[in-house]
Amino acid sequence: MPGSAWTERLAGLRPGRFDVHTHAIDPDLPDVGSVYGGSFPSIERTGTRTARMIVDGRAYREIDERCWSPSARLRDMDAEGVAVQVLSPIPVTLCHEQPADGAAELARVQNDFLAGMVAEAPHRFLALGAVPMQDPARAVAELTRCVHELGFLGVEIGTRVGDLELANPVFLPFFEAASQLSAVILVHPVDRALDARLGRLGFGFGLGMPFETSVAAAALLAARTLDAAPGARIVLAHGAGSFPAILPRLDRGQLLVDADMDASQLASARARRLWCDSLTYDVASLELAVGRFGTGHVVLGTDYPFAARECPAGAVFDGLDTELRSRLEGINAQALCADVGAKPPHLQQERFPA
Ligand SMILES: [Zn+2]
Repeated sequence: MPGSAWTERLAGLRPGRFDVHTHAIDPDLPDVGSVYGGSFPSIERTGTRTARMIVDGRAYREIDERCWSPSARLRDMDAEGVAVQVLSPIPVTLCHEQPADGAAELARVQNDFLAGMVAEAPHRFLALGAVPMQDPARAVAELTRCVHELGFLGVEIGTRVGDLELANPVFLPFFEAASQLSAVILVHPVDRALDARLGRLGFGFGLGMPFETSVAAAALLAARTLDAAPGARIVLAHGAGSFPAILPRLDRGQLLVDADMDASQLASARARRLWCDSLTYDVASLELAVGRFGTGHVVLGTDYPFAARECPAGAVFDGLDTELRSRLEGINAQALCADVGAKPPHLQQERFPA
């Protein structure tokens, strides 16, 4: 979407609470596994307004029309005072570890579905799409389609791609493309990819997801992926998991290796390039995240419409001072979304070398 059209699009959004972390899915999701092989999620309708997600042959989650009906979502948004939602795929559907052909097809179908939902209420919805990360060239192509053709903010990706870290050099072209598009990349843990040990202990949600996000973030900083992709806007889900808490220890680990390391290269300094959402369920944890990433780099996120969601949206903001609260409720999200699709200034300058 050209810059002027995108500016107009953002200006047309309803002002108010801006929730960047919600999920949606097509209730008639095609069973791509039956065509491409692999193990892909599928959906069984259980009623006119309800359905069941099937993952690896087992019931994964009972879902309802809030996952696919713009009008159902708008009712809740109006009741809770949410002006805008960013729709993104349910993470288990990202399927970065499955055959690439199936993942690419599922991403395409999901992105077209999300675009249809957004079109129902473009002043209330934006979207982040899916990409087949296991095939970086196709991930770049789908990311570009999402931003340029579908008018999305960017895409949602998992914290790893099979056994590969996001920081692996094979994914540099993806992050460089995200940089050139000034795209938003929501990094979201996928419960299917968590350490089996944590699942057996029953800590997949409480410990596995925050840990997984921390590993991905630490690896991205250490690999200098961000240096190669300065225009990408990387947002860590769930208040960045446990990452804010462990940053001082990451710094100390760096200094143990190189006592003279420049302060600007420490993880805590480099982390200020990242963003996170507010889904911490706890104001002290939220304030720590704000301290780590900066007052401008934390945005409202709820995980609507699932059981884990924060309800009402932004409940954790109670007790924050008025200025910070207004930033987290919407001002920061507006800044996060500004100029998506436009080349960042440092790349524009490259066209006119001195
Ligand atoms: Zn989520």
